[in-house]
Amino acid sequence: MSHDSPIGDVVFAEPEVALVGFTSFRNPGWFPEWQTDAVGDAASLLEFAGRLCYLSFANPLHRSNRQYLDNILARQHFSVMEHASVSIAIRGVSRSLTHELVRHRHFSYSQVSQRFVNEEDAAFVLPIEVREHGLDADVVEAAREARRAYLELASALSRRLAEAEPDRTERRKRARQAARCVLPNMTETALVVTGNLRAWATFLKKRGAPEAEPEIRRLALLIHEILNDIAPEIFEHFHVDRDEAGRGTLVADVDFE
Ligand SMILES: Cc1cc2nc3c(=O)[nH]c(=O)nc-3n(C[C@H](O)[C@H](O)[C@H](O)COP(=O)(O)OP(=O)(O)OC[C@H]3O[C@@H](n4cnc5c(N)ncnc54)[C@H](O)[C@@H]3O)c2cc1C
Repeated sequence: MSHDSPIGDVVFAEPEVALVGFTSFRNPGWFPEWQTDAVGDAASLLEFAGRLCYLSFANPLHRSNRQYLDNILARQHFSVMEHASVSIAIRGVSRSLTHELVRHRHFSYSQVSQRFVNEEDAAFVLPIEVREHGLDADVVEAAREARRAYLELASALSRRLAEAEPDRTERRKRARQAARCVLPNMTETALVVTGNLRAWATFLKKRGAPEAEPEIRRLALLIHEILNDIAPEIFEHFHVDRDEAGRGTLVADVDFE
């Protein structure tokens, strides 16, 4: 998916996600009897943390890492999942989406500031249903108008603040923080989100569900692919169901909470 898809002078962004960080595991060597077939840091760390609870490092039943973690999930011992974190960079999403995303309280966020960053050339995100119903042109017009109003308001404020606020950076910040009031929910934004595996699993459960809003559901599916690479032992418990139009939803066989 390309990041930008221009229609006239208005650019509509497409969602992009990228893994930018994840927890690594170091075996302290305190339990030399422990042997694991875990692949990857997340799976190793989760098994280590789980086994520490019962000092069960000997593994007499010769359980594989996958079996061990399945048992942890079956017992709803979900706090073990909180030891490994994943940071994901996201762009090409709307501010309506991020307003929903930031409701998830166990994540940490760093998002583009509309107080500091000039939104004069802001891109927008076309709602999926608008595109599906061919109403793109109506939204292009609204986007163009919003950008024009933003530019005019920011310039007018900047001029009026010229005497009262000699510091140029501060003046621009004050003008932009007020002028953003005319930007629509579809304005594109970017952010980094960090969360532990439990927080990501509950996010996927809620936002990958059929009743979730289509843009955030599309994002949940993209994020699921990243998480599946980092910790398939956990995230293969979600599978993607697709309807006839190819729209996906996430279904889990574990009731993550
Ligand atoms: C389809 C859908 C429609 C929605 N519609 C609306 C809407 O119309 N209006 C609206 O305002 N919001 C709406 N939301 C947002 C929703 O109410 C939640 O704010 C959002 O899904 C975050 O999930 P969460 O609150 O369960 O917990 P998170 O913040 O993701 O935390 C995960 C879990 O931690 C626990 N937890 C976190 N904080 C607390 C706490 N303070 N006290 C006790 N337990 C806690 C809970 O078990 C919670 O489920 C909607 C969400 C969805 C998925």
